[in-house]
Amino acid sequence: MAQRIVIENAAIATVDARDTEHASGHVVVADDVIESVGAGPAPEGLTDVVRRIDASGHLVTPGLVNTHHHFYQWITRGLATDHNLFDWLVALYPTWARIDEQMTYAAARGSLAMMARGGVTTAMDHHYVFPKGSGDLSGSIIRAARETGVRFTLARGSMDRSEKDGGLPPDFAVETLDGALAATEATVRAHHDASFGAMTQVAVAPCSPFSVSTELLKQGAELARRLGVRLHTHGSETVEEEKFCHELFGMGPTDYFESTGWLGEDVWMAHCVHMNDSDIDAFARTRTGVAHCPSSNARLAAGIARVPDMLAAGVPVGLGVDGTASNESGELHTELRNALLVNRLGPHREAALTARQALRLGTYGGAQVLGRAAEIGSLEPGKLADLVLWKLDTLAHASIADPVAALVLGAAAPVTLSLVGGRAVVEDGRLLHVDEDAIARSTRDEARRLARIAAGH
Ligand SMILES: [Zn+2]
Repeated sequence: MAQRIVIENAAIATVDARDTEHASGHVVVADDVIESVGAGPAPEGLTDVVRRIDASGHLVTPGLVNTHHHFYQWITRGLATDHNLFDWLVALYPTWARIDEQMTYAAARGSLAMMARGGVTTAMDHHYVFPKGSGDLSGSIIRAARETGVRFTLARGSMDRSEKDGGLPPDFAVETLDGALAATEATVRAHHDASFGAMTQVAVAPCSPFSVSTELLKQGAELARRLGVRLHTHGSETVEEEKFCHELFGMGPTDYFESTGWLGEDVWMAHCVHMNDSDIDAFARTRTGVAHCPSSNARLAAGIARVPDMLAAGVPVGLGVDGTASNESGELHTELRNALLVNRLGPHREAALTARQALRLGTYGGAQVLGRAAEIGSLEPGKLADLVLWKLDTLAHASIADPVAALVLGAAAPVTLSLVGGRAVVEDGRLLHVDEDAIARSTRDEARRLARIAAGH
């Protein structure tokens, strides 16, 4: 017998293909999936209702999907605050290269808690720093995600181009080509779940063109396709990166990615700020996805990604927090607004993005980019019950009639309830499965320990 949760009297934004909304409607959850969504009260005569929620004053949306992050940076926030990307990387790599399993676990818990509290139901972590002898970093990150209760993709990163090969990371912070490929394959085999409703997936994710060799990109793509998993990396983030690619490879980043097998519907890339028309056409033609990270791009003065042009061309676009060393807030719900605002500062001005398009980027767009659009990203019968009840009847939002405008343009809305596969993860703004205060203490302790080690005492 299915156990049902009935949510009624809420405004609902389904983010389905027609952007169906209900001013007052219901959602019925049966076990881990959505059974029905519609206007008015729930159907009568439902059996096995374990919980009935009067969601007056709330907006229900699909859970937010984060498509780019670096959890370990939770313990190196607020550093190198006035640098561009390359200077920031050079300033931080020596510290990052000292992380260990205990630090990575604490930082992952901090990153996950912050996002989950703000309505993220599917998280991802692009982890690419694996110092020798640092322990089981991937395992510790996956454990943190499981404990928090959110759905999770680990993008198992790698770097093999250090300072001695013209890269930015110090020599001791990188892996060998064969070592990185073997460890990535082992992580996929140990943790990737391809089934409907999977809580843990793994992607193959060399860090960026300027920190990995051409061979690692090529063989990484072959490995992912042999194992049937997705591919992720950073692309076209800054003008310096474009220059680097032209100098080293005689072509721009998108052409370089294409030459190494890195365009395709199984690939998504973070940033994609510096793209010309033919780059966008190549992404659209190959259905390569983009993780748009507006706050991080602004923090590092990287530029404004051409999201309206990408969407018009048919490129799948999701949103990303990015690592919290370049987006200290660590929240995704505020990125809905920042995506809209930043893109309106670009050439399309007020026509750049609507509030509903911003919500779509953070939900369905993210699901597409992670290859999970059949399971999550919209409220439709048969899909997983990953959803959020946003409280919009307090001082911050009560005077805004349009709930989607309130969510996207207003202050960060409190989360009354968030469900992942029908299981509550946040209730009245508090995380249910982890202790927020204990996480705050351990992340402070680990940040201090890392700072001491990095300073050499
Ligand atoms: Zn990043």
